[in-house]
Amino acid sequence: MSKSVQIIGSGFASLSAACYLANAGFSVDIYEKNGSVGGRARRLSKEGFTFDMGPSWYWMPDIFEKFFADFRKLPSDYYHLDKLDPAYKIFFADDTITIGDSMEKICTEFDRIEPGSSGLLRKFIAKAQRNYDIAINKIVYRPGLSPLELITPETAVRVNQFFSTIKKEVRRSFKNPKLIATLEFPVLFLGAKPSNTPAFYSFMNYADFGLGTWHPKGGMYEVILGMKRLAEELGVRIHCNSAVKEIGVTDGKAEYIKVNGERKTADYTLSGADYHHTETLLESSYRQYSEGYWDKKTFAPSTLLFYVGFNTRLTGMEHHSLFFDTDFEAHARAIYDEPKWPDKPLFYASFPSKTDNSMAPEGCEAGLFLIPIAPDLEDTPELREAYFQRMMTRFEKHLGSPVQNNIIFKESFCIKDFVSEYNSYKGNAYGMANILTQTAFMRPGLRSKKVKNLYFTGQLTVPGPGVPPSLISGKLAAELIVKAS
Ligand SMILES: Cc1cc2nc3c(=O)[nH]c(=O)nc-3n(C[C@H](O)[C@H](O)[C@H](O)COP(=O)(O)OP(=O)(O)OC[C@H]3O[C@@H](n4cnc5c(N)ncnc54)[C@H](O)[C@@H]3O)c2cc1C
Repeated sequence: MSKSVQIIGSGFASLSAACYLANAGFSVDIYEKNGSVGGRARRLSKEGFTFDMGPSWYWMPDIFEKFFADFRKLPSDYYHLDKLDPAYKIFFADDTITIGDSMEKICTEFDRIEPGSSGLLRKFIAKAQRNYDIAINKIVYRPGLSPLELITPETAVRVNQFFSTIKKEVRRSFKNPKLIATLEFPVLFLGAKPSNTPAFYSFMNYADFGLGTWHPKGGMYEVILGMKRLAEELGVRIHCNSAVKEIGVTDGKAEYIKVNGERKTADYTLSGADYHHTETLLESSYRQYSEGYWDKKTFAPSTLLFYVGFNTRLTGMEHHSLFFDTDFEAHARAIYDEPKWPDKPLFYASFPSKTDNSMAPEGCEAGLFLIPIAPDLEDTPELREAYFQRMMTRFEKHLGSPVQNNIIFKESFCIKDFVSEYNSYKGNAYGMANILTQTAFMRPGLRSKKVKNLYFTGQLTVPGPGVPPSLISGKLAAELIVKAS
């Protein structure tokens, strides 16, 4: 008889693990608390508008290709991808930078801002590409069980890059504040400040400029739907509206999970729900990490999000638009050093209807607005509205015309929603940051040290936050279970 696994949650990591386990012959059931799959990557559909509620940047297409190739499939079997040109536009107080879909276009833009800087950029990206090859091909697919996993001939000669920071690395070559901000932007996906992120992570710059920004037609949720379809084709059973309330342990083994008042049993339990929350489902003696442990960790930011339906097209905006027209350092301090609502936050806006007509009714624009904030802040309707107004004032300035009267509706999502919708620790959006002391074997483990057949996956464990790492995390957790079986 085939061995069985029950998986908690249906985010990218859980769906990935489910596919690998089903493919290896396991009988797989997914239990998801919400009414639809996808976790932080769920979709909001309203009045003909479509919004990705969480991730909107499709980076590292090679990792998605590798995932589907493991099942002899292609991403195009499940969704249609377009490379965006421009990839994105950054609005500064007195200028903009547009990142095109090739190094040639990006070099021209760098030279416009700082004549001669394209030569330095090419060198910087060549180094970033070498790091990408090492990180993605040699390190990131390792399960974080031992420090030795990080030691390869290639990393040994780059050890200084683990102890220097992206902030220093970028400033070594570039002096122009706008170019510095542009090159520091990608590591924000890792959830920490550039001054806290190892220089080795410059591979994110290669992901950005070298591999480009892509858009799945219909939005990122199409990737979730594709993975769900693949999982079901492989025989996975998915149960929504099924919150797991308890993991019952007997003699050091996870015996059952409690769902909708019933006890469900399986040979293995794998949780893709937030790690901290999963441990609270266990009796305290079976938890590996104390509240003090979690409290000391550097969490990636939470976010204040708005999903806005406009009854007009917004000229001058791009599919991905970043508003870096205020002081980054002050905003970063308010997230990481002295957590509070930032005075003048940077923000990000996505208008997927700019390149994909399916995202909004004709003549309309779908807008997602995102302000990164510290986790665990006070979250009230008044604060959300005050920040929306502040953001709109700046947005309208860049747009060159008022637009508030063109808003058909807006929905918000913030810390309280991350907690209630996803059982997120302190309302974090992107999990735990990838700083040096929270890398690989120093992250909460994929395998429980206290409960024999309990495993974890997702953005709080190995390798880290983001959609591509979540796909990898699912694969790594599945491999450990297959090995143990
Ligand atoms: C606003 C936002 C923007 C982002 N932007 C990007 C981006 O542009 N590009 C990118 O690559 N990444 C981005 N990310 C990060 C990326 O979305 C995440 O890293 C990834 O989706 C995490 O997947 P996961 O499977 O680890 O967790 P989740 O998606 O959180 O999945 C966990 C699942 O477990 C469920 N669950 C929790 N508790 C229980 C329980 N007790 N019982 C049953 N089910 C339970 C939850 O409902 C959820 O469905 C963004 C994230 C956010 C929030």
